[in-house]
Amino acid sequence: MSEPSPEVYERGRGMDAHNLVMRELRGERDEQYDPSEPTRVWIDEDNTPGGIYQSLTIILNTGGCRWARAGGCTMCGYVAESVEGGRVSHEHLMAQIEHCLEHERSHADEVSPLVKIYTSGSFLDEREVGAETRQAIADTFADRERLVVESLPDFVKPARLDDLVFVGLEVDVAIGLETATDRIRRDCVNKYFNFADFEDACEIASEHGAGVKAYLLMKPPFITEAEAIDDMVRSIERCAEVSGCHTVSMNPCNVQRYTMVDELHFRGGYRPPWLWSVAEVLTQTADIDAIIVSDPVGHGSDRGPHNCGTCDTGIYEAIKAFNLDQDSAVFDRIECSCRHTWEVVCERETGYNQPLVH
Ligand code: SF4
Ligand SMILES: [Zn+2]
Repeated sequence: MSEPSPEVYERGRGMDAHNLVMRELRGERDEQYDPSEPTRVWIDEDNTPGGIYQSLTIILNTGGCRWARAGGCTMCGYVAESVEGGRVSHEHLMAQIEHCLEHERSHADEVSPLVKIYTSGSFLDEREVGAETRQAIADTFADRERLVVESLPDFVKPARLDDLVFVGLEVDVAIGLETATDRIRRDCVNKYFNFADFEDACEIASEHGAGVKAYLLMKPPFITEAEAIDDMVRSIERCAEVSGCHTVSMNPCNVQRYTMVDELHFRGGYRPPWLWSVAEVLTQTADIDAIIVSDPVGHGSDRGPHNCGTCDTGIYEAIKAFNLDQDSAVFDRIECSCRHTWEVVCERETGYNQPLVH
């Protein structure tokens, strides 16, 4: 990738321009959401440094991310699912937690040792989740083994981690780093922080008894399939070198509503990554000393990561198996004629002819 001149980042261009477009797109939504209900909740299984655990995953509706209100990331439609007004009270947030506990009681035979709380923003941002609510949630889950909370690096502060660690939980902060390449994070994802900020957050987390799970985004808009693969391999390597970052979740981009990615996709200018690319990255990084997992949301659909339609389910199942045992041999068993098409795309797609194949 070339390096831009300083003028590219003048007002009205670069990040300002991205934010302006994103604000306009987000303004088109008209759905309303109930503040006493979580955005989503489900039971799953996860690979953690403590072993494989049944997990309760909660998407808390906190009013959404500050950065999304400024415009935000080019692929992120989560704020469109947030409660209008950007603020949810302590009582409503605790009602959402109660709703999730009820879901767990009716869908699982036992309590989940692992609880993961995402907010489509930052659980550690006190504008989303105040100190009183954070402490009450820590108390609610104090009998579990492990708690994962999502946060941007700026909000990873000692006292906020202490509230969670001091109740006796193993705590991980899930940070949406997206890529270790600052240029791609800034210009393709439109995310404002640098890799150095991620490293600082990992250091604070480590010093306060917490771990970090880095979330990476495969193939944001404006880069080719081959660039996306290289970027993910390099990013996983760099994350694994950061002390405290024990897990990397490498997730292919999908097309969400009210986003720039959606606009590009609608006009034929964006294709989510191939599932072959996900398998390629997992294979190339399988020996790295960190847990590497991937969750290809929307797999097999036009708006999600996909291959030809015939082999998508098989490769998705292989990714799920890899998540649990980290054995990339599972990908060697998958064959499909579309692999050749993918290889040609990796070889011939360029910045000006993409997507070469839809
Ligand atoms: S990806 Fe994260 S930081 Fe970016 S707009 Fe969405 S919630 Fe905010
Ligand atoms: Zn295929």
